[in-house]
Order: sequence, then structure tokens, then C-alpha cells
Amino acid sequence: MTAATRDLAELELPELERLLQDEGYEAFHARQLYRWIHRHALIDVAQMTNLPRALRARLDAGFSVASLRIVNDQVSVDGTRKLVLELVDGRRIESVFIPDTPAQTFCVSTQVGCAMSCGFCLTGKMGLVRNLTAGEIVGQVRTLALATGLLDQPFNIVLMGMGEPLHNYENTMKALRMLHAEQGLAVSPRRETLSTVGIVPGLERLSREPLMPNLAISLHATTDEQRTALVPPNVKYPLAAILDACRRFPLKKRSRITFEYVMLNGVNDAPDDARRLAQLLAGIKSKVNLIPLNPAPGIPYARPSDARVDRFAQILADRHLTVSVRKSRGRDIRAACGQLIVEGGVKKSAAQQMALLLR
Ligand code: SAH
Repeated sequence: MTAATRDLAELELPELERLLQDEGYEAFHARQLYRWIHRHALIDVAQMTNLPRALRARLDAGFSVASLRIVNDQVSVDGTRKLVLELVDGRRIESVFIPDTPAQTFCVSTQVGCAMSCGFCLTGKMGLVRNLTAGEIVGQVRTLALATGLLDQPFNIVLMGMGEPLHNYENTMKALRMLHAEQGLAVSPRRETLSTVGIVPGLERLSREPLMPNLAISLHATTDEQRTALVPPNVKYPLAAILDACRRFPLKKRSRITFEYVMLNGVNDAPDDARRLAQLLAGIKSKVNLIPLNPAPGIPYARPSDARVDRFAQILADRHLTVSVRKSRGRDIRAACGQLIVEGGVKKSAAQQMALLLR
């Protein structure tokens, strides 16, 4: 894509309608165009055969459809597949396909790197390079769906790749609207999960959105002291503020907030931690997802034994909480939670960026 061309895959349907109307074409052509791009993952305008020839020529001359280039494609022994995708500026991100029955899941990134600096996460070590555009977020889903042959099948989307979605609010929400559009992939919000460290103003904004994804909160600790050590944004948005926002969050019928809890051996996985966690979540429609750490070089924590994880889970279950233990998928290809990292391109250290963010 050259600087002079505009990316059609970056536009929501109403924007596309306006664009075509400005060019003297009727709005229904925008819907056809949107369908080609988003439902059929077609990037070559010349092949969009139901568009008038003159419109195709016009689009071909002044616009383009940006695609994400697959630069690496690895499949784990458990079937998890990780794509390294190159963006138009040469930056790279990772997106993961997690096969399961009956649901298939795409795990997508919202930023190149991440500014949150969580102590157990490799992406956090990269620092933030830049936000992804809405087109790049949606593009990952299209690329994964095309690569896995699932373009016309239902799938789940989790915003659990690189980045903090509420730190890139506008683009993330625009991407979700584009994914919902009936002319596109028509993804149901019930099939989407946004995972966040808990940026409270972002949670409040999210609670007013007309279309809402499922919400997952990366909690990971039960005291502010410990959480601040593991998840630095906790300084600004401490546990009580996050849990308050969760209590106020308008949940759909039968839906619950997921609380993710990375288990670090000997750090946050004692029976007392489990008891405190149960107390904190009292009165919130919740489920707890325990994630035994995926260890990595440079991460100063270890994964607890299965027995410790089971004991922790049992304490929560005894207190009538719904608990699941996340299966670790794709660890052999570094596609598991917290293992997404693409080397290079970092300007400031993660710690410097975090300091800027919290000023
Ligand atoms: N920034 C958002 C989205 C990323 S989600 C968030 O933090 O929620 C990635 C999930 O994987 C989070 O719950 C995160 O805490 C977890 N995670 C990060 N590093 C991990 C690791 N090394 N092992 C297991 N889970 C990890």
C-alpha cells in the first residue's frame, strides 16, 4: 500500500457507504464491497465481480485493501497454531488459533507490545511499540479464519493476544463493531471476550457500549501490595476500584465476569490467597479461570504443581465459585498466554513507559 492509497479494510460500513456516495455510487455497493473484504477475505478489487467496472477501476487506482502478511506459521503438537503477521509498517504481531470442540477460538492482539509491564508476561517485557488500528485487529481474525478454513463457520474471538485492549479503546471497539456487521463476519458479541488488567475508566466506558463483549479481568492477586508488584497499573486502579466497577457492570442474562488468575508457585497460590479471592468476589456474578504460569526465560516465577493448583481450585469451589483451570495450549511453539513476543523495535523500556502512563 502506498501513502497515496486509502485502506478500505479500515472503514466501518457507514464510512464505506459515505465514501462511495461521495464518489457518486449507491450505498448498496458499499455493502457488496464490505462483504467481499470481510466475509470473503478478498483483497483484489478486480475480482469483486458484482461491482460496476468503473467503480472497480476507481477503487483500484485510489484505494487498497491492506492485508497482514503471514511471515511465520507454526502448529503445536496440540493443534494450536500461531501466526506471526507483518503489518504494513513492517512491525510484527502474533495471533493464535486454538482448536477445540465444539468451539474454535481465535486469540488476537490489540497492540504491538504492551505498556502494562506485568511481571510474568513476556509481551510486557517488550514495552508498547504502537496501537493496532481497527483494520489490523479485524485483519487478524480474517487472516486466521482464511488460514484455518473457518471463514463461514462460527468461532470465538478472545482479545487475549499482545496488548491491553482498554489501552487502545477506540480502535478495539471499532474493530468489534466491524466484526459484528452483518455484511462482514457477523460475529456475535456473545462469542467475543475482552480481557483487561482493569483500567477503570475504560471499564466504565465499556459498560455503556450498545454491543458488549464478555468481560475477563486479569486479577492475579488478592492484596493491593501483591497485585501492584505483579500488575503495575494496580497503583492507579487498585483492587477495590476494579471490583466496584465490576459490581456496577451491566451483565447480560446468565452472563458472568471471568476473573483470570495466573498461578505463580509460592507467590499467590497459597490456601489463604484462595480464601481471600473468594471473599473479594462475593456478590459478583463471576467465574474464576486459574492459569498455571507458562514459564519462560527471563520470567522470575515458576509454575505450581498440579496438586497446588487443585487445592486452590477446591477452596474456591467449596465457597460456591465456578472454577476452571486453563489448559495450556501451544507452549511448545510459544503460543501460550504470556508468551507472545516479537523481538526488536522497542524504544523505551517497559518500565519507562509504565511510568509515563501512570503520571
Ligand atoms: N492485557 C490483557 C490482555 C492480555 S490477556 C490482560 O492482561 O488481560 C493475556 C492473559 O494471559 C492475561 O490474563 C495474562 O495475565 C495471562 N498471562 C500473561 N503472562 C502469562 C504467563 N506467563 N503464563 C500464563 N498466563 C499469562
